[in-house]
Amino acid sequence: MKFDIVIKNALIVNHNRTERADIGVKGEKIEKIGTITEEANIEIPGEGKIVFPGIIDPHTHMGIPMMDTFSVDNFKTGSYAAAHAGVTTIIDFTVQNPGDTLLSSFERRRHEARISHVDYAIHVNITSFYNGFLDDMEKVAEKGARSFKVFFAYSFKISDELFLRVQEKAKDINALILLHAENGAIIDYLIKRNIERGHTTPFYHGISRPVFTEEDAVQRAILITEYTNSSLYIVHMTSKRGLKRVKEAKKRKIRVFAETCPQYLYFTDDVYKRPDGHYFIASPPLRKEEDVEYLWEKIKDGTMDTIGTDHAPFTKEQKDRYRGMFYKTPNGLSVIEFSMPSIFTKVLERKLPITTIARLMSYNPAKIFGLEGKGEIKEGADADIVIVDPSFKKVVSPPYKSASDISPFEGLTMRGIPEYVILRGKFLIKEYLFVGHEVKGRYLEQKINLN
Ligand SMILES: [Zn+2]
Repeated sequence: MKFDIVIKNALIVNHNRTERADIGVKGEKIEKIGTITEEANIEIPGEGKIVFPGIIDPHTHMGIPMMDTFSVDNFKTGSYAAAHAGVTTIIDFTVQNPGDTLLSSFERRRHEARISHVDYAIHVNITSFYNGFLDDMEKVAEKGARSFKVFFAYSFKISDELFLRVQEKAKDINALILLHAENGAIIDYLIKRNIERGHTTPFYHGISRPVFTEEDAVQRAILITEYTNSSLYIVHMTSKRGLKRVKEAKKRKIRVFAETCPQYLYFTDDVYKRPDGHYFIASPPLRKEEDVEYLWEKIKDGTMDTIGTDHAPFTKEQKDRYRGMFYKTPNGLSVIEFSMPSIFTKVLERKLPITTIARLMSYNPAKIFGLEGKGEIKEGADADIVIVDPSFKKVVSPPYKSASDISPFEGLTMRGIPEYVILRGKFLIKEYLFVGHEVKGRYLEQKINLN
């Protein structure tokens, strides 16, 4: 047999093991792992390199409305930035506009995503509770979108009653509920009070969203999920107090999954005191050093399930427009361009097992969200492959691949920037250069089976 691509003598990193072997790619699939003597159209020497399964970012927001503006990456520019960080699959969220059903918001999102250079699945936001929305969950699940996100914050927050009913429905139809875990009623009041007192600098963004509002939302959702005997995925967890509740719930065998993001693993609320503090405004806010340390501890002990980026980039201009008015500054950071490098760099620094990256950023998201063929370097899997030269380092600086002109990581030295990225047998990145202009991402149907 002649292979399309052979990676010779590579250190292959999966979620639970590392091994040295050759990888043979034929068409869209990994055909063989072992010793390969056959010819190949393209041979990549693997000595000194590390090979990971393609990164799956389970949390992106391409081109979404935010306050009076839009996040600046669409699926084309966002997936272009993503590819540079080894991301071969993203899961993005629908936007439910006034009058939208779950189905119409899903169809529109799917249409918008067709320009993506990487594969994509879609989470369905439930932000309007019209008559029949519970039945519509089933209709959209039949189209392969089996993960639904609800919010305990913002004007479109879900009530406790409806959260319970949504969880019962999810259990019925084999779907997974994602939660934005903040107590919105408390936060809305604190924001109002801080504005009245003239406390409007970025620092008061964090002050208005105290850590107990996360803990409260996490615990309330866990208790309801326990009662309905369904599953729960908590997005962008930031705090020790919140995550402790998840750890306890897991001990009680409640099916709860926790996600965090690179920004919560890098920065504390100290950044809000910097002159560019408003560039770091996102919700939930950045926390304290003890939270950052606890998140890393829980990555190490397996409590944390996934790392997603919550990529929602804005430009300097968009962020500067409301400088000094935290409550009007668009929420979100440009993260996906350094998703895997940011974690690779810290995993090395903190001397964590290298398998941590494959587990939280590829295998677990594939398993939790039911993405068949993804998440592992193994025979028969999609040939989604990332090759890293661990000796390569780069200082983060503009211009960026994302449409945003700022990065929270600016000035930091990153390792783990991929030398090659392959999506289903096609090169997105070759020798650090994007060559995937003709590569089209594919919509992935979720095959969730959690109950
Ligand atoms: Zn988000």
